[in-house]
Amino acid sequence: MEELSDILKKHGFAFKKKFGQNFITDFNLLGAIVRDAGVDENSTVIEIGTGAGALTRALSKAAKKVVSYEIDRTLAPVLEETLSGCANTEVVFRDFMKEKMEDVEDGLGNYLVCANLPYYVTTPVLLRFLEEAKNCRSVTFMVQEEVAARFAAKENTPEYGAITAAIAHRGTCKVVRKVPRTMFTPRPNVDSAVVRIDFTDGFAVKSERAFRETVKLAFLSRRKTLENNLMNALHLSRERAKELLASAGVKEGVRGETLSPAELGKLSDILCDKGLIG
Ligand code: SAM
Repeated sequence: MEELSDILKKHGFAFKKKFGQNFITDFNLLGAIVRDAGVDENSTVIEIGTGAGALTRALSKAAKKVVSYEIDRTLAPVLEETLSGCANTEVVFRDFMKEKMEDVEDGLGNYLVCANLPYYVTTPVLLRFLEEAKNCRSVTFMVQEEVAARFAAKENTPEYGAITAAIAHRGTCKVVRKVPRTMFTPRPNVDSAVVRIDFTDGFAVKSERAFRETVKLAFLSRRKTLENNLMNALHLSRERAKELLASAGVKEGVRGETLSPAELGKLSDILCDKGLIG
């Protein structure tokens, strides 16, 4: 096949910053990402952001089936060429964020997600899989290095936050590969990393909504104590807030960021039982 840059030129393709178009062309890196995602001949894979189809083609060779979403229709003639012969691959020219998850999952069975995501949409896309997906087994994303650190953070660190807890609730996150900015065309201003989130050993909560609200209030104001955030968010007296935290086994005077995701889960169950949230 011709060089990707020649194919893009031939079709008069212009990179669009608004869609976060930073493409990967290095075959070794593409192969490594496919391996990082654990794709094999039995895998069904969802990709978000087909771009010029380089990762899609690598996924197509390794997987049973690939469904790839791309917002930019001007890539259609490019993809006709780059994905020729990829009979197991379907490109859906739609904004993934506007798709209903039940339509995305319809007829797929269990699947993996693998994507070199546009940076501006990383967290919203991940949240959709964490909160809405039923049959997702794992998510492997290329993200900004600092975002990767937040995804895989431990409690009581500056990187730890609401997204860390949301991920830990569903499974485990590992930063599997650092990727320098020089690997992308055009070159972004930041380095990246591949993260893999396996939807396996998370923890159960009584109410998903209560958990989300608890996490939100725990990080409402990071400098304030959990007790103060609880009082402010739920309009409680100090005494009542203390009592609730004590029943969740939370020490006095701590900030929300000191609680592990599972401890936040336990607190959310108590707040839910008391009818305060959820
Ligand atoms: N997968 C290709 C690669 O690795 O070279 C392209 C990656 S590029 C970082 C991200 C791609 O996502 C772009 O082609 C962009 O047009 C597409 N995109 C951006 N927002 C999208 C959305 N909401 N839904 C579907 N595709 C989107």
